[in-house]
Amino acid sequence: MLDMAYQQMQAPILKQEALAAHIFRIVLHCPSLAATAVPGQFVHILPLGFTLRRPISICEINKENGTLTIIFEVKGNGTQKIASLRPGETMDVLGPLGHGFTILPEAKHVVLVGGGIGNPPMLTLAQYYGERATAICGYRTAGIVTLQKEFQESGANPILCTDDGTAGRHALVTEPLKEILADKKTDMVYACGPRPMLKFVAAVAKKAGVPCEVSMEERMGCGIGACLVCACELEREGKPVMGHVCKDGPVFRAEEVIW
Ligand SMILES: Cc1cc2nc3c(=O)[nH]c(=O)nc-3n(C[C@H](O)[C@H](O)[C@H](O)COP(=O)(O)OP(=O)(O)OC[C@H]3O[C@@H](n4cnc5c(N)ncnc54)[C@H](O)[C@@H]3O)c2cc1C
Repeated sequence: MLDMAYQQMQAPILKQEALAAHIFRIVLHCPSLAATAVPGQFVHILPLGFTLRRPISICEINKENGTLTIIFEVKGNGTQKIASLRPGETMDVLGPLGHGFTILPEAKHVVLVGGGIGNPPMLTLAQYYGERATAICGYRTAGIVTLQKEFQESGANPILCTDDGTAGRHALVTEPLKEILADKKTDMVYACGPRPMLKFVAAVAKKAGVPCEVSMEERMGCGIGACLVCACELEREGKPVMGHVCKDGPVFRAEEVIW
């Protein structure tokens, strides 16, 4: 059965800015979507003149102001078109979609791990958990580092890493993750980023005996579970099953993903 708790609307754009080369932030006024959105969900955006929507994770949910913020990288024609929108124009959005992260209201400490364009959705969790969260933000290089001020302001403890050592610690995200899990009792590891990173993060969490949830990206068609484009292989109750990233995910328990 399809979850019908999503809506489609023309959302006015309040703000559009470039954060780094090819990386943009857009703030949308969509109170009815913001009212129900939870961390880890995404919006499905129809660029004008296109037939297929583009999935983009929600990066900030402001229920008071009725806004959702998205951050995306221009990859092809669709994201290029979305980046060309300006304040005062509207965006055709469908959302909030997908199965979000499990929120643990009683958690004492959680670790958020973001890789590159996987960092923005971690901000929703940083803003929820505040000082109970350690946010490991990994990027290839200094030029694409974004959101460090926002992570600081969330109250979370941010740890910046770059693959080439041009900003923060010269390390892969799994290095500080191992240290933190050895040092501090942690209730959950949440991760979003490239698949190889998720695989290693999941292995580190498993070794430390800490539950882990990962947000997966697959090419997507409809976004609501009606087509089969974003199928992914999962293991549930010891049996292989096919899931849909759009509906069963994008967030999955790491142990059910067949890496
Ligand atoms: C659940 C989810 C959340 C995402 N969140 C973000 C985010 O927060 N920020 C961000 O920059 N990117 C995100 N992506 C990736 C983003 O959707 C693609 O980069 C974008 O669709 C590319 O569209 P395009 O027209 O520019 O590129 P093209 O390559 O021209 O796209 C052609 C088609 O392929 C699909 N496609 C291409 N790459 C991807 C991809 N990696 N994942 C899914 N579909 C793809 C497009 O939707 C489109 O239908 C997310 C993907 C998923 C599945």
